[in-house]
Amino acid sequence: MLEDLTGRIGPRLSGSPGAAKAVVWVEKEMRRHGFANVKLVPCMVPHWVRGDVENGQIATTKQPLSLCALGGSVATPKGGLTAGVIEVRSLEEATKLGEKAKGKIIFYNRPFDPSLPNTFGAYGGANDQRVRGASVAAAVGAVGVLVRSMTLAEDDEPHTGAMRYQEKVKQIPAAALGIKSANKLSSALRINPNLKVSFTLSCKTLPDALSASVIGEIVGYERPGEVIVMGGHLDSWDLGRGAHDDGAGVTQSLEALRLIKKLNLRPKRTIRVVAFMNEENGGRGAAAYAERVRKSSEIPYAAMESDSGGFMPRGFGVTEAKYEAVKGWEEKLRVFGIERFSKGGGGADIAPLGPLGATLFGLQPENQRYFDYHHSRNDTIDKVNPRELEFGAMAMAMLAWLISEEGL
Ligand SMILES: [Zn+2]
Repeated sequence: MLEDLTGRIGPRLSGSPGAAKAVVWVEKEMRRHGFANVKLVPCMVPHWVRGDVENGQIATTKQPLSLCALGGSVATPKGGLTAGVIEVRSLEEATKLGEKAKGKIIFYNRPFDPSLPNTFGAYGGANDQRVRGASVAAAVGAVGVLVRSMTLAEDDEPHTGAMRYQEKVKQIPAAALGIKSANKLSSALRINPNLKVSFTLSCKTLPDALSASVIGEIVGYERPGEVIVMGGHLDSWDLGRGAHDDGAGVTQSLEALRLIKKLNLRPKRTIRVVAFMNEENGGRGAAAYAERVRKSSEIPYAAMESDSGGFMPRGFGVTEAKYEAVKGWEEKLRVFGIERFSKGGGGADIAPLGPLGATLFGLQPENQRYFDYHHSRNDTIDKVNPRELEFGAMAMAMLAWLISEEGL
């Protein structure tokens, strides 16, 4: 399934032809596996396109910079943007520049903290630069931003990802720099603080487009109104093929329910797969799904998300209040590689179900390599090991089964 999704369909950014094909593809897969009540849950999604032109260089020395537009960015002027550069390590530092930032490109270069063993912690500690950096810089008069890619990989692939403009602040172009390019620019600035960088982006935002998340299920025989969700997101960034992020999570969810079906197991509670649309740059699919649940009479009993890559599963995060209730299941999950439950779980797509009462779970795979590929051209299927991917699907199937049969 993952070969099909990443190979035949490829990148699936919200609003793109790839995303539309992926919706049709999931619906077909669900029917092929014999899932019940297969449906689309429509939502309007942002429609941002990268455009054809994307390049940059240190203008003074003509050294090329490897970069890509951040998702949601506006374009540069047609012939590109050329300006002096100020390197900072934080949003606060950018704000403190005040007048000095006027007419400049702000270069956010705070790296992932390499001392954190969990790379998601390092990501969380750096990505404010990518998400909010442009508006913070624009507020003090900057004309563009460059952001060190959100990765620990020692290559020069730029990693895109969502950025957001603050209302009433001038929208300035924002691009991610590959790590080698970020290091190159940083050393060049130490030698010549007056150097200039030029870069060109031709991205733009089109009107919102109609899209959908896709759902399918096995109806519970004893408590059909209590629903356990397994899900991942169907959309992906446009540079790679969305293999780890998050073709893995979607296909693991499909596979987990397929396994239960194939084994002719009838769950007490309803087990449903949701392929969420638009996690990457809007969360509109998650919002529309939660709204549909809220208006229905069903009980969102539990939800589990796989959106941390298709690597060997190691644990599940779980809503803190239910930690003691599920801890005893660790032994049963060990054969699938699960070592432990940890407190605090979920993911962006199932988060809105928490306030509606669902216990949230997040699959936690090995995380050392994830950010090497995440949101870059390198997120392709050759980076996914089928055996490890399948262990994740099995762990999800087992956990869904335990929730259904034993309750929380
Ligand atoms: Zn993701």
